[in-house]
Amino acid sequence: MAKSIFTKILDGEIPGDILFEDEVCFAIKDINPQAPIHILIIPKKPVEKVSDAESDDKEMLGHLLLVSKAIANEQGLDDNYRLIINNGAKAGQSVFHIHVHLLGGRSLNWPPG
Ligand code: AMP
Repeated sequence: MAKSIFTKILDGEIPGDILFEDEVCFAIKDINPQAPIHILIIPKKPVEKVSDAESDDKEMLGHLLLVSKAIANEQGLDDNYRLIINNGAKAGQSVFHIHVHLLGGRSLNWPPG
């Protein structure tokens, strides 16, 4: 499988603003932010979509949410933020490597459309 743009950032092959890294995941600033704070939390394992995840990925998927929470706290978002995972092109996914969008710093409307 070809490396995703996110793995290329992690590997230093293309520039990116890496804010956090541990053994399971890393976080970067979104290049096209949709809110004052827009951060992507990405597993190092290059699973393309949540719908491709398997039971072995349970811990990794839970870890992504806990790291998202920690980053939100660190960014001063308290309990006002949104976490989004787009799954599939028709649902708005454009990079096929699972990532959690952390959005905050402004009021967020619902439904997202
Ligand atoms: P999605 O549409 O859910 O797959 O989200 C992909 C996100 O990746 C979008 O919000 C893009 O702005 C973001 N993105 C694409 N390329 C880069 C990049 N080189 N560095 C940071 N974020 C990126």
